[in-house]
Amino acid sequence: MTNTLKHKRIIFGLICPALLVLACIVKNSPPARAISIPDELLRQKVVVIDPGHGGHDPGAVGPAGLAEKDVTLSVARKIKEILSRAYEVVLTREDDYMVDIVRRTGVANHHHADLLISIHAGSGFGHQAQGVVTFFHSPGTGPGSIPFRKERDSWEVGEKPLPWDEIQDKHRAKSQALAKLVHKHLLAKLNPESRGIREAPLLILQGADMPAILVEVGHLSHPAEEKNLRRPDVISATAEAICEAIKEFFAKYP
Ligand SMILES: [Zn+2]
Repeated sequence: MTNTLKHKRIIFGLICPALLVLACIVKNSPPARAISIPDELLRQKVVVIDPGHGGHDPGAVGPAGLAEKDVTLSVARKIKEILSRAYEVVLTREDDYMVDIVRRTGVANHHHADLLISIHAGSGFGHQAQGVVTFFHSPGTGPGSIPFRKERDSWEVGEKPLPWDEIQDKHRAKSQALAKLVHKHLLAKLNPESRGIREAPLLILQGADMPAILVEVGHLSHPAEEKNLRRPDVISATAEAICEAIKEFFAKYP
């Protein structure tokens, strides 16, 4: 036997058992299956918080001079601070500047947000109105709705409707559920007067392609509420209540 042939036999003798072992492993292994993980589990939840007003638009201003734009930004920043450990939190404005309403909704849509909450602390007629009121979007036909002017009125006959108006429609049930949770947690934590959960065709909500609500966390026009909303502990408690509601919402609708 030549040296070359001898080497070939040795190598073949080594390779064959290895192939046999490999074949057995392959034979006994369970068939490879493609594991499909839903997209929503692969990505972090995205929460968009909209601090109402800003810049040249102060919103409501209390009798002692506190501006709504500052209250809303403080609450939004606190929410971001608390929730950033668990979710991606995006604010529609990070400082004291004005952002168009439609652009605010656009931020939420652009980030494919899982929910949008617009924060306000408005004014009522006179100094009597106080408490918390939470809105979800409706076209304006539901009980308790507020008669806002609809953009639809200005369309030409035969013109194709703008889809923006209808984007929120498919999320209305979840928006209502989110409104209920935010309202419930604010009432439980701060014990304010409840002005209810209401439907309104609010521009910031109607083009939002996710569950979306607007909450008035108090009435700056009421002297006692203005005083309250100056307090850092009240701002923190307000933010915490909204965060609890968001966590409960995601637990219910993962
Ligand atoms: Zn406002």
